[in-house]
Amino acid sequence: MENSYKKIFTANKEWVAAKNKENPNFFAHLAKEQNPEYLYIGCADSRVHANEIMGLQPGEVFVHRNIANMVVNNDLNVLSVINYAVEYLNVKYIIICGHYNCGGIKAAMQPKDMGILNPWLRNIRDVYRLHEKELDTIPDTNDRYNRLVEINVYEQCLNVIKTAEVQKSYLEKGYPRVAGWVYDINAGILNDLDIDFEKELTRIRKIYDLTKGG
Ligand SMILES: [Zn+2]
Repeated sequence: MENSYKKIFTANKEWVAAKNKENPNFFAHLAKEQNPEYLYIGCADSRVHANEIMGLQPGEVFVHRNIANMVVNNDLNVLSVINYAVEYLNVKYIIICGHYNCGGIKAAMQPKDMGILNPWLRNIRDVYRLHEKELDTIPDTNDRYNRLVEINVYEQCLNVIKTAEVQKSYLEKGYPRVAGWVYDINAGILNDLDIDFEKELTRIRKIYDLTKGG
C-alpha cells in the first residue's frame, strides 16, 4: 500500500516533465486563469473521468462529481458550482453525464435501508417514482436499471434548468445550454441524449420561471 501511495508522487514528477517537454509554457499559461467552455457534472465513479473521456486538457472543463451525478436543490455544493460556472466562468454548456452500471442508481433500486446514503438515494428514488409508469413496463431488471440511468440524467438536466442563473444567463446572453449524456462504461462511448434544451426551458419556465427580480 505504501508503495502505491508513493508511486503517485513519482508519477506526478514524470507528468510535469512530460508536459513541460511538450509545451514549456503549459503551467505558466494555466496558472494565469481558467477559461473553460464546459461545466461537467458527473458521477464520482472512478471509471468515469471527465477530461479523459472528453479528450480535454486541464483548464478546458470545470468539473463537479458526486454519487449518481445529482443536482439536488438544497445541495449548496453543486449549486455553488453552477453559480460560479455560469456567472463568473461564463461556461457555454452545462453537461450532466451519467453512466451505465452506476452503483448509485443500482443502490437506489434496492428497497432497503442504506443508512446515511438514504437521503441522497431518495432523490433518485423520487426520479423512479416520477417515471414509474415507463420503468415498470421494462421487464428486464438490467434494462430497467439502464433506462433509469438515462431518465435520471434527464431529470438532473431539468434541475439545472430550474436554477435562476441558468434561466437568466440564457435569456440575456444565449448561454449556457444544458445537455445530458450517458457514458457507456462497457465500450468507452459517450452518448448524447439529445435533450431539446429550448423546449425544456420553455416547459420548465411555465412553473419555475425565475427570470424576474433578483
Ligand atoms: Zn455512478
